[in-house]
Amino acid sequence: MRQSQLFTKTRKEIPSEETAKNAQLLLRAGFIHKEIAGVYGFLPLGLKVLNNIVQVIREEMNAIDGQEISMTALQDKAVWDKTDRWDDKNVDIWFKTKLKNDSALGLSFTHEEPITNMMTQFVRSYRDLPKFVYQFQTKFRNETRAKSGIMRTREFLMKDLYSFCHTQKEQDIYYDRVKNSYIKIFRRLGLGEKTYVTFASGGTFSKYSHEFQTVCEAGEDEIYVHDEKNIAINKEVMNPEVLKDLGIDEKDLHMEKASEVGNIFSLGTRFSDAMGLSYTDEFGEKKPVWMGSYGIGPARVMGVLAETLSDDRGMIWPHEIAPFALHLVSLGKEGSDAHKKAEEIYEELRKHKVDILFDDREVGAGEKFADSDLIGIPMRAVVSEKSLLAGGVEIKERKSDKDEIIPIEQLIKMYTNCCDDCNH
Ligand code: ATP
Ligand code: MG
Repeated sequence: MRQSQLFTKTRKEIPSEETAKNAQLLLRAGFIHKEIAGVYGFLPLGLKVLNNIVQVIREEMNAIDGQEISMTALQDKAVWDKTDRWDDKNVDIWFKTKLKNDSALGLSFTHEEPITNMMTQFVRSYRDLPKFVYQFQTKFRNETRAKSGIMRTREFLMKDLYSFCHTQKEQDIYYDRVKNSYIKIFRRLGLGEKTYVTFASGGTFSKYSHEFQTVCEAGEDEIYVHDEKNIAINKEVMNPEVLKDLGIDEKDLHMEKASEVGNIFSLGTRFSDAMGLSYTDEFGEKKPVWMGSYGIGPARVMGVLAETLSDDRGMIWPHEIAPFALHLVSLGKEGSDAHKKAEEIYEELRKHKVDILFDDREVGAGEKFADSDLIGIPMRAVVSEKSLLAGGVEIKERKSDKDEIIPIEQLIKMYTNCCDDCNH
């Protein structure tokens, strides 16, 4: 994409009420748009990042036999009455509205009820199980606090996966598969080293649930990390019993602030019982369906990446998530050799479907470099009269600041994996 065509611009100043670092950075870089407090839209560069995060999660969900769907945000009161979660006394973050005929509607804050209700249409016999269903879908929550930028918003994308199993044992095995899948996901998202499988409260059906907590100053949670075991305990459940269960000595723990990027939960038969979701086993006997639910907040992940993978110049996106693979910057005036070369490189890489941002704007080098650092694409290639004289383009890695001059052909090869006798 040509930067001269991009409708968004980087900004020097952002509103003073924006106190979260992730929102400050992403607003300045032109990745997000603030609609109202706790409500943000995603602009071209930001949407690319969000979609990259979504794609990593999708690949891993498919790898554990997830089937992707998309449920509705508008919800029927009657379905939620069955678990008593319509009542504001039980759930205080609903956004509710009404149809013209006065019947009540709500905007989904999660989907256990409607998905369990829907599955009653498809699950009859033991042959119909197990099934694993997920979606990327907008949730609405009337959160009291919305001061963490895109890490806690009132309208947000969630990946929610639900499992439907024959038995508790089968459910437990799938729960472990999801846990391992999440470990892989956060590693791929560049958060592996800072993200801990964290013991948290389990609700009615299991002693603990697991949260995936990423250590981060801006996080709203407090966790106790055990370095050697590579696990953590949420402050909410920290007590002698948990320490005993996990065989952990309190002195081996240190407290960290963290943000919950994902969580996995055993639901037992709470929702299937309430919705009447059951199956007939091999012997014709009616049995309840065992369930689990598993969430990840892709936009919260993006916020945590902005908080943790950035410096005073801007973002440092990991490769899999970056909005573009390469930032090609031309310092030549229009008509100059440098500009022509830059155009040639852009066209050649585009032919090979390499996703690059091409700074073809008529602005000074200082502004181009500052913008490039702020946007944070992993690699930058600068074409100037000077670089051409030195033998090609100057490439610079955003993360390490290491730079070197390489021949243009080498740059092309780096991004196209072309072999020496390739005809491209
Ligand atoms: P928290 O404890 O942070 O309020 P939660 O326990 O209510 O979150 P879930 O309902 O399990 O979270 O949601 C699944 C995932 O969705 C969370 O792990 C988080 O990544 C994301 N998420 C939850 N609430 C928000 C929000 N308000 N804004 C953005 N992402 C969110
Ligand atoms: Mg939580």
